[in-house]
Amino acid sequence: MTVQLIYLVAALCFILALKGLSTPRYARAGNLLGAAGMAVAVVTAFVHGVEHNGLLIVVAIVLGVAVGIPAARSVKMTAIPQMVALFNGVGGAAAALVAFTEFLGVTEPDVLFRIATVLTVLIGSVSFSGSVVTFLKLQELMTSRPVVLPFGQILSIGVAAVSVVLAVAVSVVPSGFLLVLLALAGLAFGVLFVLPVGGADVPIAISLLNAFTGLAVAASGYVLANTLLIVAGTLVGASGTILTRLMAQAMGRPLANILFGAFTAVAATAASGEQRTVRAGTVEDVAILLGYAHNVVVVPGYGLAVAQAQHAARELVAQLEGRGVSVSYGIHPVAGRMPGHMNVLLAEADVPYDQLKELDDINPGITSVDVALVVGANDVVNPGARDEPSSPIYGMPIFDVDRAKSVVFMKRSMRPGFAGVDNTLLYNPKTTLLFGDAKDSLTKLLAAVKQL
Ligand code: NDP
Repeated sequence: MTVQLIYLVAALCFILALKGLSTPRYARAGNLLGAAGMAVAVVTAFVHGVEHNGLLIVVAIVLGVAVGIPAARSVKMTAIPQMVALFNGVGGAAAALVAFTEFLGVTEPDVLFRIATVLTVLIGSVSFSGSVVTFLKLQELMTSRPVVLPFGQILSIGVAAVSVVLAVAVSVVPSGFLLVLLALAGLAFGVLFVLPVGGADVPIAISLLNAFTGLAVAASGYVLANTLLIVAGTLVGASGTILTRLMAQAMGRPLANILFGAFTAVAATAASGEQRTVRAGTVEDVAILLGYAHNVVVVPGYGLAVAQAQHAARELVAQLEGRGVSVSYGIHPVAGRMPGHMNVLLAEADVPYDQLKELDDINPGITSVDVALVVGANDVVNPGARDEPSSPIYGMPIFDVDRAKSVVFMKRSMRPGFAGVDNTLLYNPKTTLLFGDAKDSLTKLLAAVKQL
């Protein structure tokens, strides 16, 4: 009874944590509350189970801490999606293994127990192997482009059908051997499911697999008769599903298209092979443009994160504001490599939250913006997403910076963004390219603006 009450308190902490995380103001408090709830849950589960498996639990905790803390501390923010993928996959595998062990230990499992076991093992296996493939793709240990196997679709449907048959079989006849076969089928399906997803769509697959792991954990809660696992797993499943939908919406495409349509990346060269010219500027040119503008919109992207240029950006903006220039930041929902990536970076540099504007705040007034300063963003300002139905990113809402009076585009080279798509904005006569690392360029710009 006491244990159930403590679990209820932990569950409440998780729900309030999610609520807090949905607004920047309470996100930190929400995070701490969620961590506190988890600490309470882990200690309770430990005390509850210590007399049976004390040593094993301690070994598991030591191993988890030894791997988890250094990994979380050392990971670069741009590599968080990979880390989430890996941790998520391990979570799915853990749920499947726990359910499998419980299943072997019960002599006469009832039908509900069997169904819960089957769901945990199947979904957990899919989540594990799918997450490993997404990790390999994002870490560039394999190609990040869609991999379409010969007869891949038929193979996937075949493996899915075999999984269903095996799932029904284990639900009817409890057999450890069939359960192993089911796990293998799940592992194969996870790989086949994720291989055709490529390029910018991989983080969406991670979010979906995260939701799968939540469901596997919730099902394992039935297997272990643990209410907290059911609640926590359901919360992860629901929030993962909502996040997946939001990300798909932000990219302007239905989820089915993302998962099964293959985001076929195209080469970064001009389609017609025609020679197009670009206008590269100097730091001094750009400083004059910015320093004498009335209003500027800064559009940060993945390159800002790579260069860790958030502090330099804030300092430049402060300098411009000191000269009477009105500046805001245009934050695209999928700028960077994870939802909220730019918000987190800029918050770290103490940029006031009310300076961060969304697409709907910026686009209607974009024609009166003097300078759009694109800092390490690319896909999120690519006019092809708006104008070229043949573009792989067609339909993704963008900042219409090509409609501003002038554009400064900061990047290191002519390479395309994450989607691998050429960007006509680079060749727009209004665009001045400032080549170089974003932090370096912003620092030089700050010095040049101070000289004006
Ligand atoms: P992009 O990946 O499109 O472009 C990043 C740009 O930054 C590149 O042009 C690169 O050019 C430049 N860059 C890289 N390093 C530096 C550096 N050190 N200094 C200056 N520039 C640099 O980024 P966006 O933010 O515009 O778009 C995000 C992409 O990720 C979209 O395709 C989105 O769909 C995808 N995505 C995002 C998710 C999210 O949740 N945020 C989830 C799923 C997908 P160069 O190499 O020449 O310097």
